[in-house]
Amino acid sequence: MADKINLIVDGNEIQAEQGKTLLEVAREYGKDVPTICYHDATTANALCRICVVEVEGQRVLQPACIVKAAENMKVQTRSEKVIRSRKTILEMLDSTMDLSEAAEIQVMMKDYEADPNRFPDAERREVPVKDDNPMYIRDYSKCLLCWRCVQVCADDAQYTFAINFEGRGYETQIGTFFDKAIPETTCVLCGQCVGVCPTGALKPKREFLLEQGMSPNEISVLNTGRKRRKEKPT
Ligand code: SF4
Repeated sequence: MADKINLIVDGNEIQAEQGKTLLEVAREYGKDVPTICYHDATTANALCRICVVEVEGQRVLQPACIVKAAENMKVQTRSEKVIRSRKTILEMLDSTMDLSEAAEIQVMMKDYEADPNRFPDAERREVPVKDDNPMYIRDYSKCLLCWRCVQVCADDAQYTFAINFEGRGYETQIGTFFDKAIPETTCVLCGQCVGVCPTGALKPKREFLLEQGMSPNEISVLNTGRKRRKEKPT
């Protein structure tokens, strides 16, 4: 059995298993610590910083998804500083990308009273939808670079390594090597990236086509035609 440690979270003395992160401990005790880049199926990497908490004695807010709980730690999960930080992160995200289909983040925006017009002059990421394979589309105008898709495509799940970060600074985005179309990469169309994407940037092709106004029948005809072309001997 793992050793227990004692710490104080939001003024309550609690016990936690040694080795657990502040996020795990906080959630065990029913604290609502929001997460975006964090996912149960992927390695925590503290990219988005929405889960920050205040730890007494630490100069800066700590990302709860990677910082381990320690003996006698005093943690605040919703102090004024924490709320201001989360609100600003949400406002910055909403100013630069399309979060219209990110349902969980929309809930956070309301919870933290984030103002979508806080940074009206921010440059928005607006890129054309990539529709290059039969299974899913990639709409990187909705991508907040959480890295979940890259992680499940790599050694957190599929070991396919078809996508990764590319570019630098503001130009950073998710892409394939040399921007190849998906069918020309190692992608096996497993769909795990679509499953973990929190914003709708990755979406099943059928859902996309229905939203574009195509009927289920038209989509079936499209798929049948595609199958026939595939079966045709070369
Ligand atoms: S495509 Fe989706 S899962 Fe991948 S980094 Fe962007 S938001 Fe995250």
